[in-house]
Amino acid sequence: MSESVHHAYIGLGSNLNGPRQHVEKALINLQYLPVTTLVAVSPCYASKPVGPQDQPDFINAVARVDTRLSPLALLDQLQALEQQHRRRRLRHWGPRTLDLDLLLFDDLDLDLPRLTLPHPAMQERAFVLFPLADIAPELTIGATRLKDLLLHMKDDDLQRL
Ligand code: ADP
Ligand code: MG
Repeated sequence: MSESVHHAYIGLGSNLNGPRQHVEKALINLQYLPVTTLVAVSPCYASKPVGPQDQPDFINAVARVDTRLSPLALLDQLQALEQQHRRRRLRHWGPRTLDLDLLLFDDLDLDLPRLTLPHPAMQERAFVLFPLADIAPELTIGATRLKDLLLHMKDDDLQRL
């Protein structure tokens, strides 16, 4: 745990049966992370799956947290939440998914085996950038303004709920 407060953005995704409730439960889980405050939550979006289309649409959202956790400690917490959700689903209602991606952590650039920051695919993903812009319209990612990324981003496969 570090001394100072860090600003982090987390991307949430689910395409289980009832994925919206699943994302909303995960947002509640985020409120209870140690030394962490949930500061902002985007609206939920429905998005078409990336890759194979023979699976349900996704529900996505982005959250901002203020945290005293280190980047890897925060990733540990997010992966533990993913496991919790997966395990519960497996036992009672068949397979479900919850994906929690650490998008940004302050202005940190990291390239570790377990953690790349900023999240490597986020700049190409409409289902990340649009909800991110809802809660942080003035954000810059490295030297790039989020607003400029959005100029070139199609939102055809995305529906704000
Ligand atoms: P994906 O999100 O690409 O569908 P997973 O959620 O299974 O796939 O994550 C795969 C691996 O990505 C994890 O083991 C994690 O350690 C690694 N990883 C690297 N950078 C990040 C990041 N910024 N946020 C979340 N996971 C990351
Ligand atoms: Mg992930």
